[in-house]
Amino acid sequence: MVDLLPILKTRFGFNAFRPYQQEVCEEVARGGDALLVMPTGAGKSLCYQLPGVARTGTTLVISPLVALMEDQVQKLQSLGFKAERIHSGRDRSTSRTVCEQFLRNELDFLFIAPERLAVPGFPEMLAKRRLALMAVDEAHCISQWGHDFRPEYRMLGARLPLLRGGLDGNARTPIVALTATATPRVQRDILSQLGLTGSKAFIHGFRRTNIAIEVTELSQGDRAEKILEVLSNDERRPAVIYAATRKNTEALAAALKEKFRVGIYHAGLNKDLRDRTQTAFLSGEIEVMVATIAFGMGIDKANVRTVVHAALPATLEGYYQEIGRAGRDGLPSQAKLYWSFADKKMQEFLHEKSYPPLEQLGRIFSTVQAIASPEPKEFVRARTHLDSEDFDAALEKLWIHGGVKVDPDETIHLGSEAWRDMYQRQSGHRLEQLKKMDDFAQGTRCRMLHLVRHFGDEQDSGKPCGLCDICAPETASLRPLESVERAEVRAILAMIREREGQSVLRMHREGAPKVERKKFDVYLSALAKSGRVSVEERTFEKDGKSISYRTARALGDEEGDESLEGVMIPSSAPSAPKKKKSTRGAPKAAGPGAAQPISVPSESARVAVVALKEWRLSEARERKVPAFTILSDRVLQTIAATLPRDLAALEAVRGMGPKLVAKHGGEILKVLSPVCER
Ligand code: ADP
Ligand code: MG
Repeated sequence: MVDLLPILKTRFGFNAFRPYQQEVCEEVARGGDALLVMPTGAGKSLCYQLPGVARTGTTLVISPLVALMEDQVQKLQSLGFKAERIHSGRDRSTSRTVCEQFLRNELDFLFIAPERLAVPGFPEMLAKRRLALMAVDEAHCISQWGHDFRPEYRMLGARLPLLRGGLDGNARTPIVALTATATPRVQRDILSQLGLTGSKAFIHGFRRTNIAIEVTELSQGDRAEKILEVLSNDERRPAVIYAATRKNTEALAAALKEKFRVGIYHAGLNKDLRDRTQTAFLSGEIEVMVATIAFGMGIDKANVRTVVHAALPATLEGYYQEIGRAGRDGLPSQAKLYWSFADKKMQEFLHEKSYPPLEQLGRIFSTVQAIASPEPKEFVRARTHLDSEDFDAALEKLWIHGGVKVDPDETIHLGSEAWRDMYQRQSGHRLEQLKKMDDFAQGTRCRMLHLVRHFGDEQDSGKPCGLCDICAPETASLRPLESVERAEVRAILAMIREREGQSVLRMHREGAPKVERKKFDVYLSALAKSGRVSVEERTFEKDGKSISYRTARALGDEEGDESLEGVMIPSSAPSAPKKKKSTRGAPKAAGPGAAQPISVPSESARVAVVALKEWRLSEARERKVPAFTILSDRVLQTIAATLPRDLAALEAVRGMGPKLVAKHGGEILKVLSPVCER
């Protein structure tokens, strides 16, 4: 066995291994397969680079993003390794040269995108040489249960085993799969798809010891004020505030900018502006970044002191990634999450929008089945009696899951029956993720431990963190009850015992004592956190929709009600019974990125729709995909109605992100220019 430490020092210039690197490197260097799940920044790349070098020969690296590839290649080259990459951004002759270098055994590392393996002749070319090692970076992309599923990754399962050799009696090439975000379910999926079942999994390092997590139930309207208060402590900045929507980032930023140097970051702003804001945040010129989750990937700022979630995140994996951006320097940091039952309702509403009712998909499917010959989209739609927005949403999902095939000109053909199962599983999985997030928010055990367990970190100490609002309620800006409040809480507990099984809403409305709804929720959540009450979610079906509500049940016996020991409420909760206070919401500012619809004579709009559709069809034909995947009808209509004249205006159109603009922006403006000149 080669000694790895000298290689680490001389070739990579590091003095020592970071936690867990050595055991992974040893396992892979000796030819074992491995799955490695460690948080971003833990140093996963070394875990394929070092064993690859130790094994001598070429290490093949599969990576999903050109930018990631370029970055890694450049780092390896600067260390003196021969590293190359083949991706869509490079021309044919360069790629050919790289292949020749590979065949001459001149490369230490070859980076490719997964879709390269579908190019005829390419896997055969790779198979001509024995690889030292294969590394699959961002391996969670292979699983449809991961939060960043990429269909191109799916073919790795079929192709990689063929490249491993080992049939001729030689040892097989090892595979190492790496990711920062994989729940146990995604881990199992990665292992089975890559044929690695039975190999070693290293799941490590999810515990962060310097982040104090606090979760507070707070109504939407009170959050801006609360965040202002949190950040007014100088030690809590720099900070990143995550808001749920672009509009909310603008509104929050408007509320904060009197006091702090604030930047806004979301996908609706153009790339230039985003880059400038990001640089200003990195340099410290901006101290509070208000952003959607579009912000943060690959950002390396060590001294972020606070990460705030101004709304309930969609997944626990996403939440963990985002709070992980706090305290990279190891100094004490905070993660604050504000949420309310209304957030959860909003998430469910969004879920229903992105997963239309099964019945609607079924209606389209059986209509197409009954017609028996391929027909244009409008013809099919008329027969389903769905309105065009519902129809488009349902059709797209049906298409994704194979229930129909759609030509570039949007003629619809029958697909396969299997869509139903797949669709239900996916939708169910998303709902499960929402539930996990909700369980976390309502949780009554150590927050950090909850996260560590969620990721399946089995070797973790299992100790409570001592920092979060559950472990250390006294530091979490909570206060004990005042005497009037104690009386109210006792009465509420008694009432809950009496009305067990009723909805929380009804308890509040009909039960005694009469307290304001907000205060009632504060009490209820304090009772739940201290383990005196369990709040459960129930659903019932009404008109084909499932409606959820909460019920409460008292735990323990009545004798314990007297003391109310450990029942703490947020110090921001108003104390004395209040007079009517105006519920000040965050100002509804229309920031610089907000799209201002311009009214355009409908004649121009009509001409623009025709021109855009024509362009869209030719684009769809060229790429052999349905027209709606190029641009949806709704976005197309909005573009025609607002007639943007430059890329910035185009990017501000709802539904056009920077990616779409980069891909089609120039073309779309060209199509529009004759209309604009009219
Ligand atoms: P990950 O892929 O896990 O997010 P990277 O592999 O990109 O993390 O590594 C993060 C940073 O840590 C890089 O800048 C890398 O150079 C550095 N690093 C990795 N291993 C070591 C080590 N043993 N000693 C010092 N720095 C290291
Ligand atoms: Mg990485």
